[in-house]
Amino acid sequence: MAVGMKDQQQTVFADRGKRSSINGGQMRAAVYRGASLISLETVPVPKISEGEILVRVHACGVCGTDLKKIEYGLVPPPRIFGHEFAGTVVETGSRVTRFRVGDRVAVHHHIPCRKCFYCRKKLFSQCEFYRRTGTTAGFEPAGGGFAEYVRVMDWIVEEGTILVPEDISFEEASFLEPLNTCLKALETAELESGEVVVVYGQGPVGLLMMQSARREGNRVVGLDFIEKRLEISRELGAEAALNPEKDNVIEAVAGMTEGRGADLAIVAAASPRAIEDAQGIVRRGGRVLLFAQTVAGEMIPVDASRICVEEKKLIGSYSASIELQEKAAQMIFKREINVARLISHRFALELLPEGIHLASHPSEHSLKVVIQP
Ligand SMILES: [Zn+2]
Ligand SMILES: [Zn+2]
Repeated sequence: MAVGMKDQQQTVFADRGKRSSINGGQMRAAVYRGASLISLETVPVPKISEGEILVRVHACGVCGTDLKKIEYGLVPPPRIFGHEFAGTVVETGSRVTRFRVGDRVAVHHHIPCRKCFYCRKKLFSQCEFYRRTGTTAGFEPAGGGFAEYVRVMDWIVEEGTILVPEDISFEEASFLEPLNTCLKALETAELESGEVVVVYGQGPVGLLMMQSARREGNRVVGLDFIEKRLEISRELGAEAALNPEKDNVIEAVAGMTEGRGADLAIVAAASPRAIEDAQGIVRRGGRVLLFAQTVAGEMIPVDASRICVEEKKLIGSYSASIELQEKAAQMIFKREINVARLISHRFALELLPEGIHLASHPSEHSLKVVIQP
Protein backbone atom coordinates (compact mmCIF):
# COMPACT_ATOMS: atom_id res chain seq x y z
CA MET A 1 0.00 0.00 0.00
CA ALA A 2 1.26 3.44 -0.81
CA VAL A 3 0.52 5.55 2.19
CA GLY A 4 0.87 9.25 1.69
CA MET A 5 2.25 11.43 4.42
CA LYS A 6 1.10 14.99 4.68
CA ASP A 7 4.08 16.83 5.94
CA GLN A 8 2.33 19.72 7.55
CA GLN A 9 1.83 20.23 11.22
CA GLN A 10 -1.85 20.81 11.66
CA THR A 11 -3.14 22.30 14.82
CA VAL A 12 -6.71 21.51 15.70
CA PHE A 13 -7.76 23.08 18.94
CA ALA A 14 -11.51 23.08 18.87
CA ASP A 15 -11.92 24.04 22.48
CA ARG A 16 -8.95 25.49 24.27
CA GLY A 17 -10.85 25.67 27.53
CA LYS A 18 -11.03 21.90 27.71
CA ARG A 19 -7.39 21.23 27.01
CA SER A 20 -5.46 18.82 29.14
CA SER A 21 -2.48 20.29 30.93
CA ILE A 22 -0.38 17.19 30.22
CA ASN A 23 2.55 17.78 27.88
CA GLY A 24 1.57 21.41 27.41
CA GLY A 25 -1.78 20.22 26.08
CA GLN A 26 -0.37 19.08 22.76
CA MET A 27 0.83 15.80 21.34
CA ARG A 28 1.89 14.13 18.15
CA ALA A 29 -0.53 11.78 16.44
CA ALA A 30 -0.72 9.90 13.16
CA VAL A 31 -4.15 10.85 11.83
CA TYR A 32 -6.00 8.86 9.19
CA ARG A 33 -7.24 11.46 6.69
CA GLY A 34 -8.66 9.22 3.97
CA ALA A 35 -7.87 6.05 1.99
CA SER A 36 -4.12 5.37 2.28
CA LEU A 37 -3.49 8.77 3.81
CA ILE A 38 -1.86 9.11 7.22
CA SER A 39 -0.91 12.58 8.36
CA LEU A 40 1.43 13.40 11.22
CA GLU A 41 -0.24 16.18 13.16
CA THR A 42 -0.12 18.07 16.40
CA VAL A 43 -3.44 17.56 18.17
CA PRO A 44 -4.75 18.32 21.66
CA VAL A 45 -4.00 15.83 24.40
CA PRO A 46 -7.43 14.30 25.12
CA LYS A 47 -9.20 15.64 28.17
CA ILE A 48 -10.45 12.96 30.57
CA SER A 49 -13.53 13.03 32.75
CA GLU A 50 -13.94 11.76 36.31
CA GLY A 51 -14.17 8.02 35.57
CA GLU A 52 -11.45 7.98 32.92
CA ILE A 53 -7.68 7.63 32.69
CA LEU A 54 -5.08 9.05 30.33
CA VAL A 55 -2.38 6.65 29.14
CA ARG A 56 1.00 7.59 27.67
CA VAL A 57 1.39 5.05 24.87
CA HIS A 58 4.75 3.26 24.77
CA ALA A 59 4.01 0.48 22.30
CA CYS A 60 1.20 -0.10 19.81
CA GLY A 61 1.02 -3.04 17.43
CA VAL A 62 0.00 -2.51 13.80
CA CYS A 63 -2.98 -4.81 13.22
CA GLY A 64 -4.27 -6.24 9.96
CA THR A 65 -7.71 -4.75 10.52
CA ASP A 66 -6.20 -1.26 10.82
CA LEU A 67 -4.27 -1.84 7.60
CA LYS A 68 -7.46 -2.70 5.72
CA LYS A 69 -9.42 0.23 7.13
CA ILE A 70 -6.63 2.61 6.15
CA GLU A 71 -5.85 1.12 2.76
CA TYR A 72 -9.44 0.85 1.53
CA GLY A 73 -10.76 3.86 3.42
CA LEU A 74 -13.39 1.60 5.01
CA VAL A 75 -14.43 4.17 7.61
CA PRO A 76 -14.89 7.95 7.39
CA PRO A 77 -11.85 10.07 8.40
CA PRO A 78 -10.47 11.66 10.51
CA ARG A 79 -9.51 8.98 13.04
CA ILE A 80 -6.48 7.92 15.02
CA PHE A 81 -6.12 4.14 14.81
CA GLY A 82 -4.03 1.74 16.89
CA HIS A 83 -5.82 -0.57 19.33
CA GLU A 84 -3.08 -2.97 20.45
CA PHE A 85 -1.40 -0.69 22.94
CA ALA A 86 0.25 -0.57 26.32
CA GLY A 87 1.66 2.32 28.29
CA THR A 88 1.74 4.23 31.56
CA VAL A 89 -1.15 5.91 33.35
CA VAL A 90 -0.35 9.64 33.51
CA GLU A 91 -3.65 11.06 34.72
CA THR A 92 -6.68 9.62 36.53
CA GLY A 93 -10.19 11.04 36.91
CA SER A 94 -11.44 11.86 40.40
CA ARG A 95 -13.66 8.76 40.56
CA VAL A 96 -10.98 6.29 39.45
CA THR A 97 -9.85 3.98 42.24
CA ARG A 98 -8.48 0.99 40.32
CA PHE A 99 -5.46 2.79 38.88
CA ARG A 100 -2.99 5.44 39.86
CA VAL A 101 -0.48 7.56 38.01
CA GLY A 102 2.57 5.49 37.09
CA ASP A 103 0.72 2.19 36.67
CA ARG A 104 1.77 0.17 33.65
CA VAL A 105 -1.27 -0.99 31.71
CA ALA A 106 -2.49 -2.73 28.58
CA VAL A 107 -5.90 -1.75 27.30
CA HIS A 108 -8.72 -3.54 25.44
CA HIS A 109 -10.60 -1.02 23.32
CA HIS A 110 -13.90 -2.95 23.24
CA ILE A 111 -16.01 -4.25 26.11
CA PRO A 112 -19.45 -5.88 25.69
CA CYS A 113 -22.56 -4.91 27.68
CA ARG A 114 -23.01 -8.47 29.06
CA LYS A 115 -26.79 -8.00 29.05
CA CYS A 116 -28.07 -8.06 25.48
CA PHE A 117 -29.24 -11.01 23.39
CA TYR A 118 -25.79 -11.54 21.87
CA CYS A 119 -23.94 -11.22 25.17
CA ARG A 120 -26.25 -13.81 26.75
CA LYS A 121 -25.25 -16.13 23.93
CA LYS A 122 -21.60 -15.17 24.52
CA LEU A 123 -21.35 -13.67 21.03
CA PHE A 124 -19.65 -10.66 22.54
CA SER A 125 -18.31 -9.17 19.33
CA GLN A 126 -21.87 -9.01 17.94
CA CYS A 127 -23.03 -6.88 20.88
CA GLU A 128 -23.99 -3.35 19.75
CA PHE A 129 -22.26 -1.84 22.76
CA TYR A 130 -19.10 -3.83 22.07
CA ARG A 131 -18.78 -2.04 18.76
CA ARG A 132 -18.49 1.29 20.60
CA THR A 133 -14.76 1.87 20.81
CA GLY A 134 -13.84 3.07 24.29
CA THR A 135 -10.36 4.49 23.70
CA THR A 136 -9.47 7.57 21.70
CA ALA A 137 -6.68 10.02 21.00
CA GLY A 138 -9.22 12.44 19.54
CA PHE A 139 -11.78 12.44 16.71
CA GLU A 140 -14.15 9.48 16.31
CA PRO A 141 -12.88 6.82 18.76
CA ALA A 142 -10.77 4.29 16.81
CA GLY A 143 -8.23 3.00 19.31
CA GLY A 144 -5.87 5.95 19.50
CA GLY A 145 -2.62 4.05 19.99
CA PHE A 146 -0.95 5.82 17.07
CA ALA A 147 -0.63 8.90 19.25
CA GLU A 148 1.31 9.84 22.35
CA TYR A 149 -1.68 9.85 24.70
CA VAL A 150 -4.93 7.93 24.77
CA ARG A 151 -8.08 8.67 26.72
CA VAL A 152 -9.54 5.47 28.17
CA MET A 153 -13.27 5.78 28.79
CA ASP A 154 -14.87 4.72 32.05
CA TRP A 155 -16.26 1.32 31.01
CA ILE A 156 -12.86 0.37 29.61
CA VAL A 157 -11.16 1.56 32.82
CA GLU A 158 -13.51 -0.72 34.75
CA GLU A 159 -13.30 -3.85 32.64
CA GLY A 160 -10.78 -3.51 29.84
CA THR A 161 -7.61 -2.18 31.47
CA ILE A 162 -5.05 -4.64 32.77
CA LEU A 163 -2.07 -4.01 35.03
CA VAL A 164 1.19 -5.15 33.48
CA PRO A 165 3.93 -6.61 35.72
CA GLU A 166 7.28 -4.81 35.87
CA ASP A 167 9.19 -7.59 34.12
CA ILE A 168 6.95 -7.57 31.06
CA SER A 169 7.81 -5.04 28.38
CA PHE A 170 5.19 -2.72 26.91
CA GLU A 171 5.62 -4.34 23.53
CA GLU A 172 4.95 -7.78 24.99
CA ALA A 173 1.89 -6.35 26.76
CA SER A 174 0.64 -4.90 23.47
CA PHE A 175 -0.11 -8.52 22.44
CA LEU A 176 -2.85 -9.02 25.03
CA GLU A 177 -5.65 -8.10 22.64
CA PRO A 178 -4.39 -9.98 19.58
CA LEU A 179 -3.65 -13.09 21.65
CA ASN A 180 -7.14 -12.89 23.12
CA THR A 181 -8.64 -12.90 19.61
CA CYS A 182 -6.68 -16.07 18.83
CA LEU A 183 -7.77 -17.81 22.03
CA LYS A 184 -11.33 -16.85 21.24
CA ALA A 185 -10.99 -18.38 17.77
CA LEU A 186 -9.72 -21.65 19.23
CA GLU A 187 -12.60 -21.68 21.70
CA THR A 188 -15.07 -20.98 18.89
CA ALA A 189 -13.56 -23.89 16.95
CA GLU A 190 -14.10 -26.09 20.02
CA LEU A 191 -10.51 -27.17 19.92
CA GLU A 192 -9.83 -30.11 22.18
CA SER A 193 -6.37 -31.27 23.15
CA GLY A 194 -4.78 -34.00 21.08
CA GLU A 195 -6.04 -32.67 17.77
CA VAL A 196 -4.11 -31.90 14.62
CA VAL A 197 -4.40 -28.26 13.58
CA VAL A 198 -3.25 -26.68 10.33
CA VAL A 199 -2.71 -22.92 10.37
CA TYR A 200 -2.67 -21.15 6.99
CA GLY A 201 -0.35 -18.19 7.30
CA GLN A 202 2.54 -17.96 9.77
CA GLY A 203 2.53 -14.21 10.11
CA PRO A 204 2.19 -12.63 13.55
CA VAL A 205 -1.40 -13.85 13.96
CA GLY A 206 -0.75 -17.32 12.52
CA LEU A 207 2.21 -17.74 14.86
CA LEU A 208 0.08 -16.68 17.84
CA MET A 209 -2.56 -19.23 16.76
CA MET A 210 0.05 -21.92 16.28
CA GLN A 211 1.59 -21.35 19.69
CA SER A 212 -1.78 -21.14 21.42
CA ALA A 213 -3.07 -24.35 19.83
CA ARG A 214 0.15 -26.08 20.71
CA ARG A 215 0.02 -24.92 24.31
CA GLU A 216 -3.46 -26.45 24.59
CA GLY A 217 -1.90 -29.81 23.77
CA ASN A 218 -2.33 -30.05 20.02
CA ARG A 219 -0.06 -30.92 17.14
CA VAL A 220 0.21 -27.99 14.76
CA VAL A 221 1.27 -27.61 11.15
CA GLY A 222 2.10 -24.06 10.07
CA LEU A 223 1.89 -23.08 6.41
CA ASP A 224 3.41 -20.09 4.68
CA PHE A 225 5.19 -19.12 1.47
CA ILE A 226 7.91 -17.23 3.32
CA GLU A 227 10.77 -19.51 4.40
CA LYS A 228 11.88 -17.33 7.30
CA ARG A 229 8.40 -17.55 8.79
CA LEU A 230 8.48 -21.33 8.53
CA GLU A 231 11.80 -21.34 10.33
CA ILE A 232 10.34 -19.28 13.18
CA SER A 233 7.25 -21.49 13.22
CA ARG A 234 9.40 -24.57 13.80
CA GLU A 235 11.45 -22.73 16.38
CA LEU A 236 8.29 -21.76 18.29
CA GLY A 237 6.91 -25.29 18.34
CA ALA A 238 5.15 -26.24 15.12
CA GLU A 239 5.46 -29.98 14.53
CA ALA A 240 5.79 -29.20 10.85
CA ALA A 241 6.11 -25.92 8.99
CA LEU A 242 5.55 -26.29 5.27
CA ASN A 243 5.50 -24.23 2.11
CA PRO A 244 2.42 -25.20 0.04
CA GLU A 245 4.29 -24.20 -3.12
CA LYS A 246 7.00 -26.77 -2.49
CA ASP A 247 5.82 -29.31 0.05
CA ASN A 248 3.05 -31.88 -0.14
CA VAL A 249 0.84 -30.62 2.68
CA ILE A 250 -1.94 -33.17 2.18
CA GLU A 251 0.53 -36.03 2.46
CA ALA A 252 2.19 -34.59 5.54
CA VAL A 253 -1.12 -34.08 7.34
CA ALA A 254 -2.36 -37.52 6.27
CA GLY A 255 0.80 -38.97 7.82
CA MET A 256 -0.02 -37.34 11.14
CA THR A 257 -3.68 -38.42 11.18
CA GLU A 258 -3.78 -42.03 9.91
CA GLY A 259 -4.89 -40.64 6.58
CA ARG A 260 -7.94 -38.79 7.94
CA GLY A 261 -6.91 -35.16 7.55
CA ALA A 262 -6.65 -32.37 10.09
CA ASP A 263 -9.23 -31.85 12.81
CA LEU A 264 -9.12 -28.09 12.40
CA ALA A 265 -7.77 -25.70 9.80
CA ILE A 266 -7.39 -22.02 10.64
CA VAL A 267 -7.16 -19.56 7.79
CA ALA A 268 -5.04 -16.70 9.12
CA ALA A 269 -4.22 -15.43 5.64
CA ALA A 270 -6.29 -13.24 3.33
CA SER A 271 -6.24 -15.82 0.56
CA PRO A 272 -9.27 -17.41 -1.16
CA ARG A 273 -6.99 -20.24 -2.24
CA ALA A 274 -6.16 -21.04 1.37
CA ILE A 275 -9.88 -21.25 2.18
CA GLU A 276 -10.35 -23.70 -0.67
CA ASP A 277 -7.37 -25.81 0.36
CA ALA A 278 -8.44 -25.78 4.00
CA GLN A 279 -11.73 -27.45 3.09
CA GLY A 280 -9.73 -30.29 1.59
CA ILE A 281 -7.17 -30.62 4.36
CA VAL A 282 -9.65 -31.26 7.20
CA ARG A 283 -11.11 -34.68 7.89
CA ARG A 284 -14.80 -35.51 7.56
CA GLY A 285 -16.60 -33.61 10.29
CA GLY A 286 -13.56 -31.34 10.71
CA ARG A 287 -13.68 -27.56 11.04
CA VAL A 288 -12.38 -24.71 8.93
CA LEU A 289 -12.16 -21.41 10.77
CA LEU A 290 -11.84 -18.10 8.92
CA PHE A 291 -9.88 -15.46 10.77
CA ALA A 292 -8.56 -13.01 8.17
CA GLN A 293 -11.67 -12.31 6.08
CA THR A 294 -12.74 -8.93 7.41
CA VAL A 295 -13.66 -6.99 4.27
CA ALA A 296 -17.41 -7.14 3.54
CA GLY A 297 -18.47 -8.53 0.19
CA GLU A 298 -15.64 -11.00 -0.33
CA MET A 299 -16.99 -14.17 -1.95
CA ILE A 300 -15.17 -17.47 -1.40
CA PRO A 301 -15.19 -20.85 -3.10
CA VAL A 302 -17.02 -23.52 -1.10
CA ASP A 303 -17.60 -27.11 -2.17
CA ALA A 304 -21.07 -27.43 -0.66
CA SER A 305 -20.97 -31.22 -0.58
CA ARG A 306 -18.07 -31.05 1.81
CA ILE A 307 -20.32 -29.20 4.21
CA CYS A 308 -23.40 -31.32 3.58
CA VAL A 309 -22.12 -34.82 2.87
CA GLU A 310 -18.76 -34.74 4.62
CA GLU A 311 -20.18 -32.69 7.50
CA LYS A 312 -17.28 -30.26 7.57
CA LYS A 313 -17.97 -27.04 9.39
CA LEU A 314 -17.08 -23.62 8.03
CA ILE A 315 -16.94 -21.15 10.89
CA GLY A 316 -15.45 -17.78 11.75
CA SER A 317 -14.30 -15.77 14.72
CA TYR A 318 -13.79 -12.06 15.12
CA SER A 319 -12.27 -9.88 17.83
CA ALA A 320 -11.73 -10.71 21.48
CA SER A 321 -13.70 -12.23 24.36
CA ILE A 322 -13.98 -10.50 27.71
CA GLU A 323 -14.01 -13.93 29.34
CA LEU A 324 -10.52 -14.68 28.01
CA GLN A 325 -8.84 -11.48 29.19
CA GLU A 326 -7.30 -13.06 32.25
CA LYS A 327 -6.18 -16.19 30.40
CA ALA A 328 -4.51 -14.16 27.64
CA ALA A 329 -2.83 -11.91 30.20
CA GLN A 330 -1.45 -14.81 32.20
CA MET A 331 -0.13 -16.56 29.10
CA ILE A 332 1.85 -13.47 28.20
CA PHE A 333 2.88 -12.53 31.74
CA LYS A 334 4.15 -16.07 32.40
CA ARG A 335 5.70 -16.14 28.94
CA GLU A 336 3.88 -19.37 28.13
CA ILE A 337 3.93 -18.26 24.56
CA ASN A 338 6.64 -16.21 22.95
CA VAL A 339 5.38 -12.87 21.68
CA ALA A 340 8.68 -10.98 21.76
CA ARG A 341 9.97 -13.24 18.99
CA LEU A 342 7.12 -12.06 16.75
CA ILE A 343 8.26 -8.44 16.66
CA SER A 344 10.39 -7.74 13.62
CA HIS A 345 10.29 -3.95 13.43
CA ARG A 346 9.88 -1.02 15.75
CA PHE A 347 9.08 2.41 14.37
CA ALA A 348 8.72 5.88 15.80
CA LEU A 349 5.28 7.40 15.30
CA GLU A 350 6.61 9.56 12.47
CA LEU A 351 7.39 6.40 10.51
CA LEU A 352 3.93 4.84 10.81
CA PRO A 353 3.36 4.97 7.01
CA GLU A 354 6.53 2.95 6.56
CA GLY A 355 5.37 0.52 9.24
CA ILE A 356 2.02 0.15 7.52
CA HIS A 357 3.67 -0.46 4.18
CA LEU A 358 5.88 -3.15 5.70
CA ALA A 359 3.04 -4.84 7.57
CA SER A 360 0.88 -4.99 4.45
CA HIS A 361 3.72 -6.23 2.22
CA PRO A 362 5.19 -9.10 4.23
CA SER A 363 8.77 -9.96 3.38
CA GLU A 364 11.36 -12.54 4.47
CA HIS A 365 12.21 -10.47 7.50
CA SER A 366 9.00 -8.77 8.52
CA LEU A 367 6.58 -10.01 11.14
CA LYS A 368 4.86 -7.85 13.73
CA VAL A 369 5.41 -4.13 13.40
CA VAL A 370 5.24 -2.15 16.62
CA ILE A 371 4.93 1.63 16.79
CA GLN A 372 6.62 3.45 19.67
CA PRO A 373 4.88 6.84 19.96
ZN1 LIG B 1 -6.14 -6.03 16.17
ZN1 LIG C 1 -24.20 -6.97 24.74
